[in-house]
Amino acid sequence: MSANTLSGTLNPAHPAAVLENQGQLSLLFIGTGSAFSKKLYQNNLLIVKGPDHVLIDCGTRTPEALSRLGLSVLMVRNYLITHSHADHIGGLEEVMLMSRYVGKSRPTMIAPAKYRRYLWAKSLKGGAAYNERVNGQWLGFDDFWDVLDPVPVPGADRELAELQLGSIKLTMFRTKHIPDSAPTWRSSAPSYGILIDDNILFTGDTRFDPDLIAFMEDRYELRAIFHDCQFFDGGVHASINELRNLPSGTRAKMWLMHYGDAVDTQAETIHTLGFAGFARQWEPYEYS
Ligand SMILES: [Zn+2]
Ligand SMILES: [Zn+2]
Repeated sequence: MSANTLSGTLNPAHPAAVLENQGQLSLLFIGTGSAFSKKLYQNNLLIVKGPDHVLIDCGTRTPEALSRLGLSVLMVRNYLITHSHADHIGGLEEVMLMSRYVGKSRPTMIAPAKYRRYLWAKSLKGGAAYNERVNGQWLGFDDFWDVLDPVPVPGADRELAELQLGSIKLTMFRTKHIPDSAPTWRSSAPSYGILIDDNILFTGDTRFDPDLIAFMEDRYELRAIFHDCQFFDGGVHASINELRNLPSGTRAKMWLMHYGDAVDTQAETIHTLGFAGFARQWEPYEYS
């Protein structure tokens, strides 16, 4: 079975992933699966450009997926976290403990300070804090991580905040993910999407939110959109039935990601609907 098979076995001969390149923007999905996929890894994205790299999210199975790509969590030095579901943060305990006790280093986390506090207190602290006391204190977030703070864009909606990571520009914005009863992003729990180099939109996890797409298309010249999807209506992700209502020009540059194991049954449908396609894991998308 080849690496091109969406739902299937990954080719063990697939070339190793790299953390540096000739300067092109490279997007490599470490996984493209939904939270409950059993055939695909989780929807986490490695961005590489020249000497710079950042991993967007690190789910439960991501250290395993990285290993199959020839990388370890000790080699990945920059992590941007979109939200606190386990398919996005479940691998961070391994990152923290391996870095502190094996690598003797602190990786960098990119996230707003408010969200970092939330992530530590609600998720990471239980597995990380109590391994050690330093000067009578349990370990804290800063014992494991260096941090980079995105800078808020004055007057912009969606809590837009920007950060230049070497040659890579990252712009974070809020999404409307959970709970499903929240009418707007403002009343949703913290979750973020990313704009890469001002022209590639990666929505992260979000419910159908045409206001977000319109806001980003008004403000930026988007070359490509990588959008969360699911194959049924309801719940906390955008369904194909909802996404099909977007303008045809938007659909044509939209790659669907974060999908379930039944993806092969949907290929014809999304082709007919005029989407760019399903994003595939382990196959780099490159932009010069
Ligand atoms: Zn997810
Ligand atoms: Zn989620």
